[in-house]
Amino acid sequence: MALIVQKFGGTSVGTVERIQQVAEKVKKFRENGDDIVVVVSAMSGETNRLIDLAKQITDNQPVARELDVMISTGEQVTIALLAMALIKRGVEAVSYTGNQVRILTDNAHTKARILQIDDTRIRADLAAGKVVVVAGFQGVDEQGNITTLGRGGSDTTGVALAAALKADECQIYTDVDGVYTTDPRVVPRAQRLEKITFEEMLEMASLGSKVLQIRSVEFAGKYNVPLRVLHSFQEGPGTLITLDEEESMEQPIISGIAFNRDEAKLTIRGVPDVPGIAFKILGPVSGANIEVDMIVQNVAHDNTTDFTFTVHRNDYQNALQVLEKTASELGAREVIGDTNIAKVSIVGVGMRSHAGVASRMFEALAKETINIQMISTSEIKVSVVIEEKYLELAVRALHTAFELDAPAKRTE
Ligand code: ADP
Ligand code: ASP
Ligand code: MG
Repeated sequence: MALIVQKFGGTSVGTVERIQQVAEKVKKFRENGDDIVVVVSAMSGETNRLIDLAKQITDNQPVARELDVMISTGEQVTIALLAMALIKRGVEAVSYTGNQVRILTDNAHTKARILQIDDTRIRADLAAGKVVVVAGFQGVDEQGNITTLGRGGSDTTGVALAAALKADECQIYTDVDGVYTTDPRVVPRAQRLEKITFEEMLEMASLGSKVLQIRSVEFAGKYNVPLRVLHSFQEGPGTLITLDEEESMEQPIISGIAFNRDEAKLTIRGVPDVPGIAFKILGPVSGANIEVDMIVQNVAHDNTTDFTFTVHRNDYQNALQVLEKTASELGAREVIGDTNIAKVSIVGVGMRSHAGVASRMFEALAKETINIQMISTSEIKVSVVIEEKYLELAVRALHTAFELDAPAKRTE
């Protein structure tokens, strides 16, 4: 008998029919004798709908605490509906909000981190033969305020519960049958991966693949939670996220391609090329709580230089204001902003043992005459910033260049 944590995402509980299907599935596992904790997201579209309401009332500036009070309600609806559907099928079940379990988080509203999970209640219910249904995406801080864990946060609830309960497996059920070489909605010939390492999955998630929330992968790696991504309603092995990086002959150089349209680029031109200039430019940006991603400083000429960096698109206007102020203080020539950019990244532990991976990437982009605006590399990834309109073309070209395409289907 195993203890399994199963997380079902928004589309998998998007209608009453789907919730019934999930209940049928959980019932089957239960009948096999497994102990089951189910984590559910809000019905698909619901979190967006709630955020939109808040924006309408507050001119786009909702107070974070109150936003959390509201957006946590989406998951409260689905836990109750799923528990009802289970009980109707003769399966003993009980639902809990994050607060009721006591999923303790810090007080960083809308992006809180889980600090501790009290498993007493869940363990007692499991011992009594019940299926426990827990609301994803939410917790409570020391003061009793409701918090949420950031978009996609139900994944993290699932993994954190699995870690706390020392579950045998955490199964993330979604609308694709595993983790693919890239988003199958963009590249139809993307292939499902049997396995991917935590390290690679973490890079993929950080670089824009939203199939798993970054923090859920961090948690799973830290506590060594066996994690699998599966399709909610199709049978199949899914993708296992593993620790081991086995050296097989067939190990591909690149495991996957990630992309991100959520960034914007800012350039300050003609700043004095003197020690401390990077700090003078980026200090005020981080002082305004804006995270900087990629950074490039050009080679100086005439004792002045240009400095370019990227930020999340939501932070673009703020960053631009901060930078314009810095520019006038430093007597810079100009500030240029660009929101029509996208970042494409290739990821793979195989890169460690292969030379020339980056140049192969640049060659593939050159063949499509896609201009590279910025480059950054680390041990297992290479990222480039390009014009947004070439994003899909770039991802497809790279997918082909690194031999990730599934064999073409024969048309009879
Ligand atoms: P859920 O609501 O179940 O949490 P998400 O929409 O958050 O589902 O995540 C699943 C989606 O992630 C897929 O529908 C797919 O379009 C997207 N996705 C992006 N990159 C990948 C990838 N490499 N492999 C699989 N899916 C991916
Ligand atoms: N409902 C939340 C969201 O849409 C959490 C989740 O689905 O994981 O971001
Ligand atoms: Mg998700």
